[in-house]
Amino acid sequence: MIRRANAVLAVLALLANLALAGGPMVVTGPAALAPGKPFVWDVATPIQFTVDGGPMSKSPTGTVVVDHATGLARVKAMFQVWQSVPTTAISFSYAGALTASGLSADGDVDTLAEYNASQTTCKNGTQSPIVFDADGSILKSLGLDPLVIGFAGLCKVDPQAGHILSAHVLLNGRFQDGVTNSTTSNYELTADEFDEAITHEIGHFAGLDHSQINTSVFNQSPGNCNLDDLAGLPLMFPVDYCQARKSAGLPVLAPDDVAWISSLYPNAGYPSAYGTISGFIYFSDGITQVQGLNVIARFLDNPNTVQDESKRVAVSVVSGYLFTGNPGQSITTTNPGSPYGSRSPALIGYYEIPVPPGTYTVQTENIDARFVGGSSVGPLDRPAITYGAYEFWHHNESAFDDPSLKDPIVVSAGQTVNGIDFILNSTPPRFDKYEDGMAFLPSHPAGLFAFRRSAFLLLRRGS
Ligand SMILES: [Zn+2]
Repeated sequence: MIRRANAVLAVLALLANLALAGGPMVVTGPAALAPGKPFVWDVATPIQFTVDGGPMSKSPTGTVVVDHATGLARVKAMFQVWQSVPTTAISFSYAGALTASGLSADGDVDTLAEYNASQTTCKNGTQSPIVFDADGSILKSLGLDPLVIGFAGLCKVDPQAGHILSAHVLLNGRFQDGVTNSTTSNYELTADEFDEAITHEIGHFAGLDHSQINTSVFNQSPGNCNLDDLAGLPLMFPVDYCQARKSAGLPVLAPDDVAWISSLYPNAGYPSAYGTISGFIYFSDGITQVQGLNVIARFLDNPNTVQDESKRVAVSVVSGYLFTGNPGQSITTTNPGSPYGSRSPALIGYYEIPVPPGTYTVQTENIDARFVGGSSVGPLDRPAITYGAYEFWHHNESAFDDPSLKDPIVVSAGQTVNGIDFILNSTPPRFDKYEDGMAFLPSHPAGLFAFRRSAFLLLRRGS
């Protein structure tokens, strides 16, 4: 029996007020030449990263468990996983050991002061460090949950050009130290699982946000998910709940991960390998746009195979992902709003999903209410309360239709199928003579959140 960690794959937002979104992690704001575009690295040349000069993992008594050379090789291999996607132009290059003023010459980051030194170089935009927190002590010094496997963030961006200039990753080697001790919250992951965590953090490093697909895994045993669900479960899913994809014979990246890295960094092969589905999500008035709902395009299941393609091939995004998560307000000027994300009201409920050619159904759902803070999905840091949000798209959308009715959508390579618009059922009226359509969603009371989050942590403490 494997003791599963209630492990969290967090993205720490170093930049203030990040507009997090399913698909891209950060979207350009009012300062940009082109607002409402994903922040991306300039990939004309390979993205340079540096790596901690110390071991990847050591035991509580200081014995090296995963040495530096092995850790470095694993990190390089996980960068290669993203770079190997056939339809992306993204590439990475190892620029040597981490160096920073205040860091010992061996480049081994093992104190908070050394970690901060590495962060200073990242914020200056001079390097993009991968830090090995070999025994989890840096994470502890930062006041973070010991169940965080790793985190990543962008350090410096060019807000005008919309370019990522530097980013960082921290990996918690305590999950590879060979020690399982529940009283000290020290859990283990398999090598495949930890490699997935590395790959996940590199996804954030590349500019990808979390994705939510196949939350049905939460009704299954931790570490023993159904293969159809697992195949479609994004590597960028916010929590580590299932067995490693690789251990189950699946590719490390799910179709959602492959689609989004390709969409952000397309190469010449992308237009002949992907099409696009786009549309808007509306409240029941059919006019007011809804931000913060998950939208999933699922491949139509082929009844002649034993596999469920609708679970296995799915790509998602969050409505309003190009719109800001915090528009601010000008009355008291205490909240100038996020510097990120478009202010165009036309994008509040807009979505766009890159898909391989084929026949799809499209559906909406709520973001899981437990995905908050560092585990958030989409532009709102609190999932939206929504009503009647679980709905398939069909040709005659209305506020009074059967939400289970679904019409297939055929997408060819290079084609954008637009107008796949949803009108949600039974939402509160959001459009009347006193409103102009700029409606914003209420958020949960904080106390309720805290309760639900801890319930979730217990849920993931599986057997
Ligand atoms: Zn993450």
